[in-house]
Amino acid sequence: MLREQFPGLQQTVHGKPLVYLDNAATAQRPQRVLDAIMDYYLHHNANIHRGVHSLSESATALYEQARQSLARLLNAPSDKNLIFVRGCTEGVNLVAQTFVRSRIQAGDEILISHLEHHSNIVPWQILCEQTGAVLKVIPMNDQGELQLDQLDQLLTEKTRFMSVVHVSNALGTINPVKKMIAMAHDKGVPVLVDGAQAMPHLPVDVQDLDCDFYTVSGHKMYGPTGSGVLFGKAEHLEAMPPYHGGGEMISKVTFESTVYNAVPAKFEAGTPHIAGGIGLGAAAEFMMETGMSQIADRDQQLRIYAEQALSEVPGLKMVGTAVEKSPVFSFNIDGIHAHDIGTIIDHCGVAIRTGHHCTMPIFQYFGLAGSCRASLAFYNTEQEVDVLVESLLKAKAMFE
Ligand code: PMP
Repeated sequence: MLREQFPGLQQTVHGKPLVYLDNAATAQRPQRVLDAIMDYYLHHNANIHRGVHSLSESATALYEQARQSLARLLNAPSDKNLIFVRGCTEGVNLVAQTFVRSRIQAGDEILISHLEHHSNIVPWQILCEQTGAVLKVIPMNDQGELQLDQLDQLLTEKTRFMSVVHVSNALGTINPVKKMIAMAHDKGVPVLVDGAQAMPHLPVDVQDLDCDFYTVSGHKMYGPTGSGVLFGKAEHLEAMPPYHGGGEMISKVTFESTVYNAVPAKFEAGTPHIAGGIGLGAAAEFMMETGMSQIADRDQQLRIYAEQALSEVPGLKMVGTAVEKSPVFSFNIDGIHAHDIGTIIDHCGVAIRTGHHCTMPIFQYFGLAGSCRASLAFYNTEQEVDVLVESLLKAKAMFE
């Protein structure tokens, strides 16, 4: 059983079996990921890339094997296309401050969408402040889907870059990014895709998408916190300037000048999160062995079940009803504050998230302060959805 491989799911909370429905915030990790982290610290603990001693060599081998596993998961042409980062936040900031900053000037435009997480909004606002560039936004509709009939006219001769989320963390909307990338490329605009919520749920093939950059967060895809990767096309990684300066990213330093290391080391200054990278490699192996299409199919079964079950809760209003959706449900219940619901159902063992989910513009659109969000993963069960529904009914009863 897959579920049994996740020790975090075997706990009780307030004396009740944990029903973990906060996977969009962070997922649980399989034993195999925990073992890989522990194995590094117990048996291979050394700094990587520089050492001549055995431990350093075995640690380097494990770290680089992890990069290869991630390259296979994303179907990147080579592991050299992957930069280890702390997560999507760092992936977006890196692209903004290197690739895009080096090719943008005042009056140029950067295009994002209304469905973005703050981490795919704020780095672009910072870049716009630094350069005088202008941020443009692809609008959404009442279902929480992007209005793609407007994309063509939003891609102007001034657009220098587009950065879009693959799957919305707040509403679950799955964006047709392959089509969006093709439209942007028709106008010569390179594209970054924020894959934080896609990688845990969908097969991702960066070559098929033809994206210029794709970034994922380790902790959302059953791996360690503070880990992640950024995929970039080789020609971009070669051409763009480094991000952070320091050790590892150089091949020669004098006080007069520095020669940078080859890609991807050029973007990996300092001692990295070695255990995190190795743990993330184990997560990638776990996902490939489980099968991404099996994970995606199971997610859709759960989505359909949960959609039906939640629709039977009186007074529950779903926020975001896209046709293409991952198992993420944002909702409010008439007359009860989301935080009260979250706190009450925690006492039934049910973990959900409440608030704006780092997507304030989405809730501004709907005129809401926030929502309850239940986000499922393939290891959740129909019975857990039933417990969620029962606990929501209990919360409602307390307020009536
Ligand atoms: N994008 C999306 C869609 C997310 O859901 C998140 C995390 N909630 C991020 C980006 C940022 O990821 P991280 O905090 O791991 O850097």
